[in-house]
Amino acid sequence: MDGKYVVTERFDEGAIVRITLNRPEARNAQNRGMLVELGAAFEEAEADDRVRVVILAGAGPLFTAGHDLGSKADVAERTPGPQQHPTFTSHGATRVGAENRMLQEWHFYFQNTLRWRNLRKITIAEVQGTVYAAGLMLMWCCDLIVAADNAKFADVVGTRLGMCGIEYFAHPWEFGPRKTKELMLTGDSIDVDEAHRLGMVSKVFPAAELPEKTLAYARRIASLPTMAALLIKESVNQTMDNMGFYNGLQACFTLHQLNHAHWAEVRGDGVGRARPEDGVPDWRTAGPVLPAVRDDVKAEADN
Ligand code: ZN
Repeated sequence: MDGKYVVTERFDEGAIVRITLNRPEARNAQNRGMLVELGAAFEEAEADDRVRVVILAGAGPLFTAGHDLGSKADVAERTPGPQQHPTFTSHGATRVGAENRMLQEWHFYFQNTLRWRNLRKITIAEVQGTVYAAGLMLMWCCDLIVAADNAKFADVVGTRLGMCGIEYFAHPWEFGPRKTKELMLTGDSIDVDEAHRLGMVSKVFPAAELPEKTLAYARRIASLPTMAALLIKESVNQTMDNMGFYNGLQACFTLHQLNHAHWAEVRGDGVGRARPEDGVPDWRTAGPVLPAVRDDVKAEADN
């Protein structure tokens, strides 16, 4: 299934499927059309008994820039008219206030991500470039993460939008609790070597070789009996759920909604995020994300 924003390719008689976010001109920013197409592509791969491994990739220099916060396509699909996406007249979109935002975000940022995390196939995220904020969600819902040597990871929504994180708050499980506080309170980034050391990223490849090496890695995983592969995934996921992952995600989604509601009330504009007058830089013109360093208070730009 090829859509407007997502391309699906099959390898090895369908044993491996690569789903590629294909909106490089917008740095694969996640607009509604893309997220709905991505959900359909994941579910199509899940339903297909030939498929053993699903790779999630992004076309161009960046895996995904995160949620689309106002491109032309984003505005058009929200606005009544011929280009409006049908999900902006359903899924809570006709409700008002915090209920509208909570339901829309639950369907298209929270529950869909959790659904992909529980896909009945092994999934591998193939990431390159800067992976910030909602880029993390798409990567984290996959079982394994393979990265280009230029990848960097950060969540800047605390320092730039006055938000306590993204809708799918897997941060403490991926970065560790204290590292999450550090990264979110400073907005600093970690590089791919640290991500590998943390166990978040399993393989690091030169950017030019990323697709080919990821495919070779996927072939190795695809050789496992499907029953063993799925039960390995489930054993880990169910352990995490019993440790509180699922409840933690739900609690933090609620805090996230409170945070949106706060800014909507303070600003009175319904947007639900901090503005420069609230003490954050304009996210569109904010300076570079800085690497978290060990021995100085303030990081220095390396780009
Ligand atoms: Zn949100």
